[in-house]
Amino acid sequence: MRRITLLVAIIMALVVPQFINASNGVTYGPRASAFSIETNDDAQQVKLRIYKDGMGGKPIKTVNMKRDKGNPALWQTSIKGDLKGRFYTFDVKYNGKFRGECPGIWATAVGVNGRRGAIIDMTTTDPQGWNTDKRPVIAAKDLIIYEMHHRDFSIDASSGIEHKGKFLGLTEPRAIEHLKRLGVNAVHVLPSFDYASVDETRLGEPQYNWGYDPVNYNVPEGGYSTDPYRPEVRIREFKQMVQSLHRAGIKVILDVVYNHTWNIDGSNFQLSRPDYFYRKNADGSYSNGSGCGNETASEREGMRRFMIESVKYWISEYHIDGFRFDLMGVHDVETMNAIRQAVPQDIFIYGEGWSAGSCAYPGELAMKANINKMPGIAAFSDEMRDALRGPWDSNSKAAFLGGVKGNEESIKFGIVGAIQHPGVDYSKVNYSKAPYTLEPTQMIAYVSCHDDMCLVDRLKASVKDITADELIRLDLLAQTVVMTSQGVPFMLSGEEMLRDKKGVHNSFESPDSINHLDWGNLERYPQVMDYYTGLIAMRKAHPAFHMGSADMVRRNLEFLPTENCLVAYHINGRDVPGEQWGDIYVAFNAHKRARTIEVPKGEYTVVCRNIKCDPAGIATVKAKGGKVTIPAQSALIIHN
Ligand code: CA
Repeated sequence: MRRITLLVAIIMALVVPQFINASNGVTYGPRASAFSIETNDDAQQVKLRIYKDGMGGKPIKTVNMKRDKGNPALWQTSIKGDLKGRFYTFDVKYNGKFRGECPGIWATAVGVNGRRGAIIDMTTTDPQGWNTDKRPVIAAKDLIIYEMHHRDFSIDASSGIEHKGKFLGLTEPRAIEHLKRLGVNAVHVLPSFDYASVDETRLGEPQYNWGYDPVNYNVPEGGYSTDPYRPEVRIREFKQMVQSLHRAGIKVILDVVYNHTWNIDGSNFQLSRPDYFYRKNADGSYSNGSGCGNETASEREGMRRFMIESVKYWISEYHIDGFRFDLMGVHDVETMNAIRQAVPQDIFIYGEGWSAGSCAYPGELAMKANINKMPGIAAFSDEMRDALRGPWDSNSKAAFLGGVKGNEESIKFGIVGAIQHPGVDYSKVNYSKAPYTLEPTQMIAYVSCHDDMCLVDRLKASVKDITADELIRLDLLAQTVVMTSQGVPFMLSGEEMLRDKKGVHNSFESPDSINHLDWGNLERYPQVMDYYTGLIAMRKAHPAFHMGSADMVRRNLEFLPTENCLVAYHINGRDVPGEQWGDIYVAFNAHKRARTIEVPKGEYTVVCRNIKCDPAGIATVKAKGGKVTIPAQSALIIHN
């Protein structure tokens, strides 16, 4: 009998050359398509149904799949003929009962709303020129990340973008030129895999969601395509988006949400292998470390393999450049390291080094404090973020930006990229009493992201009687801290347009009127975009601001004496490879009045002062008596 199984495997390998492993779902071939699904060992029967459409109608064929002789958890079948354009579901029987139809966990193409797998020829989904598409070469230390939601970015009429809220929006010159002018070199798209909360059959109606409710992990979301009913369209359009951004020298980073599924009962995980993929508490209830009703078990062989293969698939099929792991702290350290090992070195990996509840896992989790056990993986720094804008558990408390003293060491912690540095007093850092990175590129520097209030709303909510002028000054001050950090800088899309969300801090399902970017603000507040552009250009042109090595930062970055609401440092640019500037002084003043710092006497070029930032220089200043002035609520950067 073994010999026959082997023979079948050899024939299938010849008929369908892409047949890689047993877990592929469907592998299309023009003469036959092979299907496979992994179950728990106690599965009793698996039915495969073939449909004409992605939803509705009766099956045109139903087949009982065959259990593998050597592996009771593997079920396979092959159907002769050209099935291109058809759809399929699996239905697994346990304890005498079929669990319900699903496309399995390995589907790479699906019908509308992702309920049925689609049988397509993936080779026909490549846009023209795709075979020459390459990931842009940008080192981790040189990345400047722009976090965006497809709908936020282009849905408003003011965007001038034709394909509003679609993958294709990012292929249009208006979008590409804006990103290039701003200078960011990596776009991090909020969940763009197939998620549940937007009904793809009603795309004519306004619907909004961030998308943290995964259904099919290895398929692009249909709501962002121009036709969710035709499975190849979303795939091709996603690739077109990647291709356009790559042509502009911009990397594409995917927000991945392996830590939980939309629901348990209806999830592809649960329908295929009941209770295998989820962690449970001692009392048998499902653990909820994600805060979304369940948490996956990355430490299990099947879940770990799923995550590794999924990430590798996005890299090989879609040329994805990096991954942002949602609630990375739900995953175990070993799995994150295995993912790091499994992908090319230039793939950038970062995540939220926390969970949203306690996890039912006794081993080491991929928390921020364990980042030093995960070389080549970065975590968001809430130390710097909250030291700037205020603590996460309040929307109205202010911090450094609001003139609250005591946040200086936390800001310094973020300036050096959370490394061990002799100039930081870790006992005074807000959340971490010790450095957690090995290299500064393991820390994401940011002041706002899709979660919580955007910067404008937070400033309005936390700084008493803030004026329009102060709002802009503090906004620019905050981003200067971020963009000069030795960590990897990250900004929320629209901050360059002084976006607001009308004070809504958890806008995951808010209407467009809350979430949309108003591109008209580019004309209303041109000084904001100009400053961001100058600031980012300065960072890119000057290695001193992104040395990329902990040793180099310790050697060349020295803090000036810290005062309340005043943080300043000196970089010795002469010892930074490729740096043109000599002595660089950077100072952040959150006071409502001007302050001074002491620097060696001499003449300096000012590149950043008040609400202007230009790497070519905006003025010169003579440090008479060794003092220079930093105007109120702003950053100063000078060099000689
Ligand atoms: Ca969907």
